[in-house]
Amino acid sequence: MSSKQAIVIGAGFAGLSAATFLAKAGFSVTILEKNQQAGGRARQLVENGFKFDMGPSWYWMPDVFERYFKQFGKQTSDFYSLIRLDPSYTVVFGKDDELDIPADYNLFRNVFESLEKGSATKLDKFLDEAAYKYKVGINNLVYKPARSLWEFMSVKLLIDMVKMDIFMSFQSHINKYFQHSKIRQLLEFPILFLGALAKNTPALYSLMNYADIKLGTWYPVGGMKAVVNAMTKLARNSGVEFSFDDEVMGFEFESNRVTHVKTRKESHRVDVVVAGADYHHVETQILPKKFRSYSEKYWKTRLLAPSSLLFYLGFNRKLPMLKHHVLFFDEPFGPHAESIYETKVWPEKPLFYVNVPSKTDKDVAPNGCENMVVLIPVASGIEDNEIIREKYFNLVFDRFERHFGEDLRPFIIYKKSYAHKEFISDYNSFKGNAYGLANTLRQTAILKPSIKSKKVKNLYYTGQLTVPGPGVPPSLISGEVVANEVVKDLSI
Ligand SMILES: Cc1cc2nc3c(=O)[nH]c(=O)nc-3n(C[C@H](O)[C@H](O)[C@H](O)COP(=O)(O)OP(=O)(O)OC[C@H]3O[C@@H](n4cnc5c(N)ncnc54)[C@H](O)[C@@H]3O)c2cc1C
Repeated sequence: MSSKQAIVIGAGFAGLSAATFLAKAGFSVTILEKNQQAGGRARQLVENGFKFDMGPSWYWMPDVFERYFKQFGKQTSDFYSLIRLDPSYTVVFGKDDELDIPADYNLFRNVFESLEKGSATKLDKFLDEAAYKYKVGINNLVYKPARSLWEFMSVKLLIDMVKMDIFMSFQSHINKYFQHSKIRQLLEFPILFLGALAKNTPALYSLMNYADIKLGTWYPVGGMKAVVNAMTKLARNSGVEFSFDDEVMGFEFESNRVTHVKTRKESHRVDVVVAGADYHHVETQILPKKFRSYSEKYWKTRLLAPSSLLFYLGFNRKLPMLKHHVLFFDEPFGPHAESIYETKVWPEKPLFYVNVPSKTDKDVAPNGCENMVVLIPVASGIEDNEIIREKYFNLVFDRFERHFGEDLRPFIIYKKSYAHKEFISDYNSFKGNAYGLANTLRQTAILKPSIKSKKVKNLYYTGQLTVPGPGVPPSLISGEVVANEVVKDLSI
């Protein structure tokens, strides 16, 4: 008997994961990818001997990656090696006011205690709660397909959810424990960069602080591309076929089932489609109106996670003043966060993040040189042009000059900027978003766009706009969750 044909749209982390699980379950799987390489938002840019991870650079939650490979009888070390970074990252609060965040927990506690007396003991308690949330959240909640409220209706789970402060805001939760503004900023940053205002984010997300402080910040040697390569190799070994440079343009239907997926090159007969491309793009540009699950009003009222203005930079010398991950928190958090999520304008005085992986990996920059990615989180859907980008480029380098007493611009030998326009043209991203939908309570679990189409019987979705949400580990999980649903519904 011939196996069922599955088409996965997009070779991002979620698409790669879904395809590999489907192949394992016996489907004949082809991934159709618009771009020329796998990885989606985690593609690699190689120019003049410099290698840049174009998107994610923080490897958090190593257990999720380990769990992924284990299900195929493998481990991450079969494909790539990991280095735990120490310091995990550095925070610049102002001139001569920098803080290295140590990997060792006892040293980390000392940092808190030096900022606020008594906070180390409070941190133990805060992290005990966060560990519990991580355990229940990662082992249980995030693997739910969230197709119905009934999935959450077990007494134990309801008790767990109350214990996890699902209805308290992340900000109130932190403020209950800590007073010092630097401590609050350190704990809020994973939320600001990945999702929503701390006051609108459920306290459940303190599980990210557990991931940060206890599980650590890691670097896959070769960068995030090493993870993409590992997943691509595993997919191919499991029988998945790839067609690159092959954008999906439309579907053919028989009543309410997709029978063929049409790309610029050809038409593929299918039994099931898993869309790993941006949900909004598939719904509004690939599906005819009568088959859409959500209205235009629905999409208009979604709160998007940020977009980003990025600069990929190559320097002709070493930069001893910087470390691998550096967060510039030398301006107040509040106004920047509001400009992303409330007023939706370019920030006046942005916070930004600098990634210099050549500090850890000698192969990502030519000898004696340094590569750097600058990331400024900004609202999705705002005007993006060269003049604005250049203004922010100079603003970042003026801030470097203020802190380090040196203008680093003359040493740049490679420069490329990237923002809304490229997110749209490269990934068909909704309003140029970088990270999908914001992690607010109203956009959690069953309140996210569903992993199964409400109108088309054999169409499913995966990736950062559906459950469980944005980030590389959630994308791996999303692929697994959707593959399980397909197998359950279509059992072959
Ligand atoms: C700048 C940036 C920094 C980030 N930093 C981190 C970080 O440090 N740590 C972390 O965990 N996460 C981070 N993230 C988030 C993380 O990268 C994403 O959540 C994750 O990569 C999303 O994967 P995905 O598979 O859902 O989507 P994508 O990676 O966008 O994959 C979708 C794929 O579909 C393809 N596609 C689109 N339309 C079509 C079509 N019509 N036909 C065929 N193919 C199509 C696209 O080309 C793309 O390859 C970052 C993201 C960005 C952008």
